Order: sequence, then C-alpha cells, then structure tokens
Amino acid sequence: MTATARKLDGAATARAIREELRDEAAALARDGRRPGLGVLLVGDDPASAVYVKSKTRACDELGLFHETHHLPATAATAEVLARVEEYNRRRDVHGILVQLPLPSQVDTEKVLRAVDPAKDVDGFHPENVGLLVQKRPRFVACTPAGIMELLRREGVELAGRRAVVVGRSDIVGKPMALLLMHADATVTVCHSRTRDLAAVTREADVLVAAIGRAGLIRGEHVKPGAVVVDVGMNRVEDPAAARDLVEPERLVDLEKKGYVLTGDVHAPSVAPVAGALTPVPGGVGPLTIALLMKNTVRAAAEA
Ligand code: NDP
Repeated sequence: MTATARKLDGAATARAIREELRDEAAALARDGRRPGLGVLLVGDDPASAVYVKSKTRACDELGLFHETHHLPATAATAEVLARVEEYNRRRDVHGILVQLPLPSQVDTEKVLRAVDPAKDVDGFHPENVGLLVQKRPRFVACTPAGIMELLRREGVELAGRRAVVVGRSDIVGKPMALLLMHADATVTVCHSRTRDLAAVTREADVLVAAIGRAGLIRGEHVKPGAVVVDVGMNRVEDPAAARDLVEPERLVDLEKKGYVLTGDVHAPSVAPVAGALTPVPGGVGPLTIALLMKNTVRAAAEA
C-alpha cells in the first residue's frame, strides 16, 4: 500500500475557530457593540464576488453586522477613498475589507493606506505590517494568520525546523515568512527568480506554496514526511490539465462550472511523499475567512 499524507483539515479548524467566536460576538452585541464589517467591492470580477459572498455569509452565521458598497469597474480612486472614509467614521463598522484586486485605474496602495489601522482587519495597512515586522502584531493578514492557527492546532512543531515559503507577495508570502520566523523556524523565501526551486523546497520540514500556478509543486519538490500547505486557488479550464491535477470524481466541475479549483500543489504526486497536506478546496480558504471574522470581533472588542 502506498503511504498518503494526512489531510490537514482547514475547513474543520475554521469551523472550530468560528464556534469559539460565537459567544464573544454575542456578548459584544448585548453590550451594544455588535461587530460590524464594511466591505468594498469594486468592479465585476466573478472570483471577487464569490469571495465577498463567502465572507458576508460567515458574518451572517456569526451574527455580525455587514454592509457592502459595490462600486462600478470604472470607479476612480477618489470614489473608493470616499467610501473608505465613510467606513472609517462609522461607529457600527469595526472592520473594513477592501476586496482585491482593485481595477487598474484605482491606486490600491493609496486606498489601503486610507483605511483606519484600527479597522484594518485584513492587516494590509503599513502600520500593521510594521507592527508584524517588529513582532508586535495587531492585525495580521488573514491567510498566513489562518495557516499559523492550523499548524498550531495540528501540533506541527516549528521551532528549529526548516520552513520554505514559495511566493513573496505582501498578502501571503511575506507575512507568512515573518510569522514562521517569529515561531523560531529557519525560513527561506523562494520566488520566480529562485534557481533550482526543487533543491530548496526539498530542504523544508514545512513547505508553504503561495504561487498562483496550478500544480507547480510536485512530488520531487517535497521532502518525505514534510508538512505541505497549499495556498493556491487556481481555476483550471483545460480538461487535459484538469485530469492531471485533480481526482477523477472532481472532473464533473468542468461541466458544471467550466473549471476545476486546484491549488499550487500537485496533490497526486505530493500526497504519497508528504507527511501532511492541506486540500484544495477545504484547506486554507476557509481559514482565511475564519481569521477575518476573528479580526473583526477583536476590532469591535477593542473599539
Ligand atoms: P502573487 O501573484 O501576488 O504572488 C505570487 C508569488 O509566487 C510571487 O512572489 C512570484 O514571484 C512567485 N512565483 C510565481 N511563479 C513562480 C515560480 N515559477 N516559481 C517560484 N515562485 C513563483 O499571488 P498571491 O500571493 O496573492 O497568491 C498566491 C496564490 O494563493 C494564488 O493562487 C491565490 O489565488 C492564492 N490565494 C489564496 C488565498 C486563500 O484564502 N486560500 C488567499 C490569497 C491568495 P515574483 O515575486 O518573483 O513574481
């Protein structure tokens, strides 16, 4: 029998986190501080609309207030800024979520800088990024924060171990590397200019793939027994590529939705090598949403 990696069930961990938040959210509501999330969605990107829906649904489940301003794809930076400033002023909005990516004419950096750092539940404001760098975290980007919760609850040891993060984005790769370093792992960050990626990733006891390239990390990239976290969320429309990437039973999605959702890890070749692996879907995605809820409840508690 071939060995197969233990499934790191992000969806179950996310449910547990949300359950833990339920009482705190209710207590705040009784105290007249019902946690509230203000969402800004600009344009008509279908994936962004799906993400916003999952986040507002999570608010509903927990009894959080939420409101979404949906601006047209042609919106100017000034219009987006005006909405952010409105949310900054509102007492019923404790957390602000600007769904990325914004259309190209909008100055994303300026918009993220305009968010009140005390309401910056996504952890993208330079002040919150700086606090994370200094190991005094306030709001930390939800995806890497969710991965840390998963690793902690699954008992994955980090101190003294080799961690490799593939990807260096502000949203995932960089904060992930900082959090792993602060947990005393020895961290290497890889990117598109890294030479001989497999030689580096094979050193990892804990490997995090945040690349945005379906199935890039294959069995030969993974050290036997490693813990592999797959952040990628890729829509694969090509049937031949999909057949290579996902189990046959998931191919029905091709007909139903026109694509299959797959990670950056090629599960068929990695699962027999890794010790543990997060699935896609049902791994990192739900954790991201759970941590957004956690940050929003915390913002309300500290308001
Ligand atoms: P970005 O595109 O911002 O960053 C991708 C990173 O991967 C870059 O640093 C890039 O390097 C690196 N990269 C690209 N190609 C290669 C390669 N061939 N070898 C090594 N490194 C490479 O993406 P994000 O960080 O925003 O997202 C990464 C993935 O995670 C995406 O699939 C995204 O959809 C998903 N995601 C999932 C979330 C969830 O909740 N599950 C949340 C956020 C993102 P360079 O810097 O040199 O360009």
